[in-house]
Amino acid sequence: MYGCQCPKRLFLHKYGRDLRNPIDDGQQFIMQAGTDVGELARQLFPGGVDAAPPDAYAYQISVEKTKAFIRQGESIIYEAAFQFEGVLCALDILVRKGNAWYAFEVKSSTSVKAQHVQDAALQYFVTTNCGLLVHDISIVFLNNQYVRKGALDTQQLFSTQSVVDEAKALQDFVNDKIQAFKTMLVQRNVPVVDIGPHCFTPYGCDFTNHCFSHMPSEDSIFELPDRTAWKLYADGYKALHHIPDDYELSDKVNMQLLHHRTGEVFIDKAQIRKFLLPLTHPLYFFDFETIMPGIPEFDESKPYQQIPFQYSLHVQRTRYAALEHFSFLGDGIRDPRSELLISMLQHLGTTGSILCYNMNFEKQRIKELATLYPNFEKELLAINERVVDLMIPFARRWYYHPDFKGSYSIKAVLPVLIPELRYDVLPIQEGGMASLAYVQLKWQDDETISLQRQQLMDYCKMDTLAMVKILEYLRQVIS
Ligand code: SF4
Repeated sequence: MYGCQCPKRLFLHKYGRDLRNPIDDGQQFIMQAGTDVGELARQLFPGGVDAAPPDAYAYQISVEKTKAFIRQGESIIYEAAFQFEGVLCALDILVRKGNAWYAFEVKSSTSVKAQHVQDAALQYFVTTNCGLLVHDISIVFLNNQYVRKGALDTQQLFSTQSVVDEAKALQDFVNDKIQAFKTMLVQRNVPVVDIGPHCFTPYGCDFTNHCFSHMPSEDSIFELPDRTAWKLYADGYKALHHIPDDYELSDKVNMQLLHHRTGEVFIDKAQIRKFLLPLTHPLYFFDFETIMPGIPEFDESKPYQQIPFQYSLHVQRTRYAALEHFSFLGDGIRDPRSELLISMLQHLGTTGSILCYNMNFEKQRIKELATLYPNFEKELLAINERVVDLMIPFARRWYYHPDFKGSYSIKAVLPVLIPELRYDVLPIQEGGMASLAYVQLKWQDDETISLQRQQLMDYCKMDTLAMVKILEYLRQVIS
């Protein structure tokens, strides 16, 4: 499967493992979440025997176990492994009905993707060549319309789609790929494959640090939007200063390039003034943190639904009043939404502008809370009416600094405008890390819990304090 994405990835996976990007906690967590989904899907076919290997490098044991289980007449086997001419595959669930076998491959996505079909085609190839009578092969995936009510209903949580016809149609493709990859691996010549969008799709490759090492770390064309950057790369450019003046670019990219070259800041004071004018005190600076569990943890939630578990709120009652701060952080175990809702309604008042950065995210969560708790619908929707997006002056480039490098995210804007406020000194530096820290609260000891709770509070507080400072900065700019 790596080879289908990029032959070089397969080659490096075999012979250049030390060149891999380091695995961070977030990736580890995603892998673990995938394993959890796989194990839960076993409940669709309970009572099977497990052929899983003791570790990821001992699949030979699984192959032998699977053979023995089949000989013994077992009819449900988990992690059934097969090997044909040096190609090994493992099926999440294998079910016997009469003489025929039905294979199920579990994915933690919410739809069947092209790469899942290729994966199934390889499994079909290996298993049938091993002599197994495979009647059907299906992808089991998460049903994003399932709403949890009480105990998890695995029959509803999972959807199943047969891909046997597509898998059969891909048999020649699989055979050709296997032969080509085997030749490449035997010859031990690193395939010549240049970087491209394939490095990130269908999966992020774990050799990007190695393969992108010829790109300049500063002044790189990858500071531009992806599509433009790849077009420039295909045309032979790597550094921004190499791009000729007459190269056709969008207005936004031209502006970014111009300011990159001159080092000058662009400010449209009139537009910023117009943006700031309607803001009314008290001013609220508000931010949510969320988790998105694939397996719904709480009643009235769907797979991958965003569940707000924390907010931070800075309040400035009048222009020169001292800042007040309020926050909420769930306990990591219970559904945080109702308590969070009560707390935020208490502090957000009924008048004054509510500033968010990238407001669509916060407004959407508030709308979802309004649907979930109809008794509070009116108050919640009234809050949404007061929300103003502090990202607008930067997204519309009324204020553009070359050091934003084309981005208008708060993580790009803050260090340039307010260098003394820094995320990189915090243990939690971005939303993904915050979600991970929150999910981990469940199984940690008391000392770690209180440390991580404090880190979560510090991170979220920084997001709203950053907004306070950015607003002050914009006010100074126009004054
Ligand atoms: S980074 Fe890109 S070119 Fe390098 S191995 Fe991965 S997919 Fe292939």
